Formats: sequence, structure tokens, C-alpha cells
Amino acid sequence: GGFQSLGLSRAVLNGIMKLGYNVPTPIQRKSLPSALGGRDIVAMARTGSGKTAAFLIPLLEKLKAHSAVVGARGLVLSPTRELAQQTYRFAIRMGKFTTLRACLLQGGDSLTAQFEALSNNPDVIVATPGRLVHLLAEVNDLSLKRVEVLVVDEADRLFEMGFALQLKEILDKVPEQRQTLLFSATMPVQLMEFARAGLQDPELIRL
Ligand code: AMP
Repeated sequence: GGFQSLGLSRAVLNGIMKLGYNVPTPIQRKSLPSALGGRDIVAMARTGSGKTAAFLIPLLEKLKAHSAVVGARGLVLSPTRELAQQTYRFAIRMGKFTTLRACLLQGGDSLTAQFEALSNNPDVIVATPGRLVHLLAEVNDLSLKRVEVLVVDEADRLFEMGFALQLKEILDKVPEQRQTLLFSATMPVQLMEFARAGLQDPELIRL
């Protein structure tokens, strides 16, 4: 029942070991087999449960290595800059043994720096929805057409913070054929409806 039995690549497993994880947390144990198998997931999990690794492991495993073709294949949406930063740093550390490139797009940072980060052709984008929508309008060749894995983290907070319209706009720009991993501490009606409309036969995971 450890990380070794999940069929992970050496690169991803090394990243996990480097972080010092030996045993999956309950949310990881419940969600990783389906997520690694490509299924959509709605997971009720709060901060401290190990939810970040629960979505980063399948994301890194699916994307594996840097692709020279332009366009990110992984997109993580976070409600706040603090969470986006934390997730980005986590992705860098866990992805250390892969060749994937990640970039952080958050409000408050200079747009010039973000144009530059995007010109490096990142495989993974970690973003707050407001800044991502802003950049989608500003940067001609920023496209979400190649996104294979979409993570909606702390989805309840994304709605609480008023990002419903931005979420819809982003969802309209990613391919229909994709994997979506949605994490949320609570599951209000508005969010359940969003999940029903935007995810494909998701597995519901609770602790
Ligand atoms: P999170 O809920 O993603 O914010 O993670 C909470 C904390 O648990 C972070 O400090 C993680 O580094 C840590 N963590 C996540 N998964 C594991 C694991 N399998 N074993 C030990 N620590 C973990």
C-alpha cells in the first residue's frame, strides 16, 4: 500500500521520496489509483490532508517530460496567491527528477515577468483565475488548447471569492477531452452543479 505499488515512473517516485513521503495519506490512498487511471475526481479534502500531492502526482505522471510543442498540458487553478505559490513550489520540488517546466501566474506579479515565463513554454501552469483570464486576453499565443489535466483546487473558495465567471471562461478554453481533478473542503450546491456540468462521470471521494 505504499507509493511503490502505484506503478509510478522512477522520476515521479524519486520526487516523492525526496520530499520524505513514505506512506500515502488517506486522501492520496483513495484518489491516486483512479486519478492515475485517468478518471475525473471530485475529492472532499482540506488543507493538511495531503491534497496537493494527491493531484500533483497524477499530473506529473501523466505529463512526464517537457514537450517542445507549444502549449501547457497541465493547469492548476488556485483561489489565492499564497496557495498558488505553495502549489507551484511543491510542483517544482516533486517534479525535480522530471524535465517538466512549470510557471506561476498570479495577480500582483509583473506582467512582463509572466510574459517571459510563458515564452519558456511551460508544461504546467499554476494560476489564480483572475490573472490567467487577464493574460489570456493580453497574450495572443497563450492557448489552453493542449490542456490534458485540469486541477481545480479549493473549489469552494474559488466560488466564495467570486471567480465563477473566470472559471467558466477558462473551462470554455480547455479541451473537452481532458482529465479534471477537483478538490474542495465543502460541497455547496453551486459547486456540485459546476462539477456535474464540467466533469465526466467523476468519482466522488470523501474521507
Ligand atoms: P497539503 O494538504 O497538500 O497542504 O499537505 C499538507 C502537508 O502534508 C504538507 O506539508 C505536505 O508536504 C505533507 N504531506 C503530503 N503528503 C504526505 C505524505 N504522503 N507523507 C508525509 N507528508 C505528506
